Amino acid sequence: MPPAKYHLSYWERQSFFRKIDIAVIGSGIVGLSAALRARELEPSARVAVLERGPLPLGASTRNAGFACFGSVSELLDDMDRQGEDQVWPLVERRWLGLQRLRRRLGDGRLRYEGLGGFELFRPEEQELASRCADAIPGFNRQARAITGLQETYRLANGRIPEFGLRGISQLICNTGEGQLHTGEMARGLQEKALEAGISIFNGLPVEALEERPGGVEIQTAFGWSIPAGGAIIATNGFARHLLPELSVRPARNQVLITTPLPCCPLKGCFHYDRGYYYFRNIDNRILLGGGRHLDEAGETTDEFGTTQLIRNALLRLLKEVILPGQQIPIDSWWSGIMGVGQQKSPIIRKVSPHVAAAVRLGGMGVAIGTLVGEEGAEMLLR
Ligand SMILES: Cc1cc2nc3c(=O)[nH]c(=O)nc-3n(C[C@H](O)[C@H](O)[C@H](O)COP(=O)(O)OP(=O)(O)OC[C@H]3O[C@@H](n4cnc5c(N)ncnc54)[C@H](O)[C@@H]3O)c2cc1C
Repeated sequence: MPPAKYHLSYWERQSFFRKIDIAVIGSGIVGLSAALRARELEPSARVAVLERGPLPLGASTRNAGFACFGSVSELLDDMDRQGEDQVWPLVERRWLGLQRLRRRLGDGRLRYEGLGGFELFRPEEQELASRCADAIPGFNRQARAITGLQETYRLANGRIPEFGLRGISQLICNTGEGQLHTGEMARGLQEKALEAGISIFNGLPVEALEERPGGVEIQTAFGWSIPAGGAIIATNGFARHLLPELSVRPARNQVLITTPLPCCPLKGCFHYDRGYYYFRNIDNRILLGGGRHLDEAGETTDEFGTTQLIRNALLRLLKEVILPGQQIPIDSWWSGIMGVGQQKSPIIRKVSPHVAAAVRLGGMGVAIGTLVGEEGAEMLLR
């Protein structure tokens, strides 16, 4: 049901929406990082975030919390598709984005744990496993300049029994990766924004932006509009509604979390089947998601929801590989919407004189979102 239309009162216009200098559309990691950077660049500017949901309603409060910057098979795949010269700069941006996020909020607030990221290979993936193992020395030379780690990637087959996984023949550890608590990250960013004097308006869907002399008029779904000096669109998987000209497709991802396990041998972030599935430990539970490749067309949607096909695939993986021989009840399911495109790199671009876009974060927004938001603000204000 579309929201009812009404007029703002004089008081509302004067007190809440008067003289907004910079409006950010979307309060995910990118939108909040953009707002914080805008405030840093222009300390006296009035910065407001306009968010359609009661909470951010996209990916930033619904993701898996992997603080990851590239597993070996993912990077090899990227090199095959886009060439090596595109790959390492993006790895560097992911790494730098993570360091920036950790500095901004602190590891305690993020509940960050540097447990490592693990890529799993099955016996039938022997060819890929060998190719990845062979790539490790060269990747470590490249990654050293970025992470400062002597050995970013390491074969870790000795740890397979410790994790209790079944049907795994090779494990590669990314020693620089970690995990964080997604909810605390989003709450921490919100708190920082409020502390910085940024207004956050929730439940306020934006329908269109119109350039005006000296600024932009932001049309809301309630029939009234808000004038602003400039705007940053950070709506990621929903970008096509405000920016149909940009190449951003929605990509739904389904996730489950188990009830607490009596003992959870898994510690870290795990990528399975070339990253099509991912799982981790959190609060003695297993969080597991992925499988969108099973129905690429059906999952190219910005509607939330889960499907039996993908639920069954996730349950099978949980039962057969992750927790073999255990019957652990599922606590809950949810989905989130990412923004993807032909190119893996995000779009940070001025789309009109007073509007910038910072969208298309793919599956790496935890890592790169801080930088993308900040660069979106810089693009608008510099
Ligand atoms: C299930 C899942 C697991 C993931 N796991 C990881 C992971 O482990 N590690 C990782 O790095 N990345 C992961 N990602 C990707 C990561 O979460 C995203 O890249 C990142 O959160 C994108 O942030 P964002 O701020 O650009 O977008 P979002 O968080 O989606 O924020 C966009 C905001 O815009 C708002 N909005 C949209 N349209 C409008 C409108 N018209 N008016 C007002 N507001 C609007 C939405 O409500 C939303 O809050 C995952 C994603 C999903 C879905």
